[in-house]
Amino acid sequence: MQQELDLFRRIADRLLSEEKREGVVKPIPAAALWNTLNLQLSSEGLSETEFEKLLTEVVLSTPRTATSKFFNQLFGGRTPKATLGDLLAVMLNNSMYTYKVAGPQVGVEKAIIKEIVSLIGYPSTADGTIASGGSMSNLIAMLMARDKKDPEARFKGNRKPLVAYTSAASHYSIAKNAAFLGIGRDYVRNIPTDATGKMDPQALSAQILSDKAAGLEPFFINGTAGTTVLGVFDPIDPLADIAQAHELWLHIDGAYCGSVIFSTKYKHLVSGLHRADSFNLNAHKMMGTPLTCSIIVTRHKKHLADSLSNEAEYLYQTDGDDFNLGKTSLQCGRRNDALKFWSLWKAIGTKGLEAMVDRQFALAETAVNYIRDHKDYTLYSDLPSISVCFNYKDIPAKTLCTALYEEGELMVGFGSFANETFVRLVTINAGNQEQQILDFFATMEAFVSKHEAALKITTEV
Ligand SMILES: *Cc1c(COP(=O)(O)O)cnc(C)c1O
Repeated sequence: MQQELDLFRRIADRLLSEEKREGVVKPIPAAALWNTLNLQLSSEGLSETEFEKLLTEVVLSTPRTATSKFFNQLFGGRTPKATLGDLLAVMLNNSMYTYKVAGPQVGVEKAIIKEIVSLIGYPSTADGTIASGGSMSNLIAMLMARDKKDPEARFKGNRKPLVAYTSAASHYSIAKNAAFLGIGRDYVRNIPTDATGKMDPQALSAQILSDKAAGLEPFFINGTAGTTVLGVFDPIDPLADIAQAHELWLHIDGAYCGSVIFSTKYKHLVSGLHRADSFNLNAHKMMGTPLTCSIIVTRHKKHLADSLSNEAEYLYQTDGDDFNLGKTSLQCGRRNDALKFWSLWKAIGTKGLEAMVDRQFALAETAVNYIRDHKDYTLYSDLPSISVCFNYKDIPAKTLCTALYEEGELMVGFGSFANETFVRLVTINAGNQEQQILDFFATMEAFVSKHEAALKITTEV
């Protein structure tokens, strides 16, 4: 292994210096991929020299999500202490299902869950798990809600015409999960939002009443803390009132911005969260840990175990259920996604996590102020949100984002809301400084001034 660690060090050093030198890399067009890199597998192995050369080439031609020119998704940057934790998790290669094979790593995961539960004000009956992403955390939430409403469903299949509620601006995993669970996509109600993108509680209430009158069985409300496009927060207290009145499970999907719980300044955005039945946050988004790290917690330890546990004599041979995390997981074998977040959290403390959150909002403020100060821009989002949505010089957002990507200038995506399509600049990389946000605008403007005519002609595309 020593030889591979040396090789790792050489490739990683090379990557770090190339990231510094050129930021994002010019993409290999998908159609040319197989002719550009030797990716095909074959019966003979490569020599060590060829292997190193090829592996380096593959690494260096991969999109550079860790650089200060990547604003494309709801993750980015590289958080050294978290990366270190993940590298060690790979070296250890435990599986999180039992204490027997994961030992202290079980405690590492439980410590994260315990502290999140305490920060949001859940009772001591709360518990949680780490899922393979926000989509799967949402699946667990919907599953617990279904089993609570219809305890027979686990054994006999769905017997009741269940209906779920989520905002029209929520993540697509809600509809997918309804399909997975046999509830059906047609039984997910997309509740309208207000003009700022937040779920309208009155519309929610009205829809529940009308479904009940039609003999259907509402069971689940999903509120979003940080909607995927605009990064806004559904109002939790009104949703909790409605959930309480109709005895529905309230889940808060904080995959994107649930990490505001770490910030004194921004946790008001999720006020009322302690009333929700379950809540998830993706540490691989705002907390900059390597993908993936999605934590779901619930007030109801019992429902987590009821929905997910399964006896297995060949697996659970020592220690109590509390230390055998397989009893509360969607998976059997499960990688250690806890150590990276724990390493970061231990190293910088909750105060350090808070500083990361606050930094992201400060960067968004820098971007919004810049846009407001420059007349060629139209702004479609508002603070506090770390998704800064805008158009520049009436250039179609899709054309602009695609051209910036293809020319290897910047990686930034576009989104739509209320019939408008815009560039979505995500200021989620807490490793960035104000200057990198200003550099983003400077790079984009220079690019546009060079290609303006062409960018406007391709409007039809
Ligand atoms: C990103 C996101 C998800 C999905 O999380 P994955 O880890 O990508 O599966 C769910 N909900 C919201 C609001 C998100 O932004």
